[in-house]
Amino acid sequence: MVRTALVTGGTRGIGRAVAIALKSDGHRVAVAYHGNEEAARAFAHDTSIPTYKFDVSDFAACETALKQIEQAVGPVDILVNNAGITRDVQLHKMTPAQWHDVIGTDLTSCFNLCRLVIGGMRERGFGRIVNISSINGQKGQFGQTNYAAAKAGVLGFTKALALESAVKGITVNAIAPGYVATDMVAAVPQEILAKIVAQIPVGRLGHAEEIAGIVQFLVSDKAAFITGSTITANGGQYLV
Ligand code: NDP
Repeated sequence: MVRTALVTGGTRGIGRAVAIALKSDGHRVAVAYHGNEEAARAFAHDTSIPTYKFDVSDFAACETALKQIEQAVGPVDILVNNAGITRDVQLHKMTPAQWHDVIGTDLTSCFNLCRLVIGGMRERGFGRIVNISSINGQKGQFGQTNYAAAKAGVLGFTKALALESAVKGITVNAIAPGYVATDMVAAVPQEILAKIVAQIPVGRLGHAEEIAGIVQFLVSDKAAFITGSTITANGGQYLV
């Protein structure tokens, strides 16, 4: 069945692969991005998927964008909360802005967009929400108190919303990727990345398409009995 999907952070990295995969399944797809116009232009050119520029951490901005998206593409049946940032620094040097930026983009965004689509999903009796968490929300990571807190928060949020939504035909699940080859990981210094890869039993970084494949499954009718779950995809690096 053709659905309308919104993928946040869909112009680059994991979100880009998710948007392309959902489009290939026949869904109508829209993506959100924040400020990288070059990536957004390249994405729109390559995929013909409409892009919407707004800040997922800003409720009012999400509300305005959601109205435009629902008018142009359709009521959102599938929401993939994928947009995320890092601002790595040890807590004793972390500024309030570094804390709030990460909590806002990686966690409050889930509240903002879920809050805006959940009413429609409940009325229509169908919805699929996939929240992208992280291995570092499961195990913690040096220099990432902000990011680990946000990504662990995503897991609790997912479970609670799953319980509230199950009776309305809405599933809410999380994916906790390990290290995936995207711009975010390219920003990690080479010597640190080499040490991380050495800890991954499959011996390599993940591919964005490997995360997209899990999203494709979770939003499909085949996954209707899966809700409140966290699917871990980390090459064996951390087994929960
Ligand atoms: P990238 O840095 O490659 O892309 C991030 C995307 O999010 C971009 O499209 C960016 O837009 C968008 N974005 C960032 N901030 C905002 C905002 N405030 N409002 C709207 N859009 C925003 O990220 P990845 O593909 O690597 O990561 C995707 C998700 O997966 C993130 O949540 C990340 O935490 C998570 N993750 C990634 C892992 C990895 O190894 N890569 C591992 C585990 C989890 P723009 O281009 O305009 O900046």
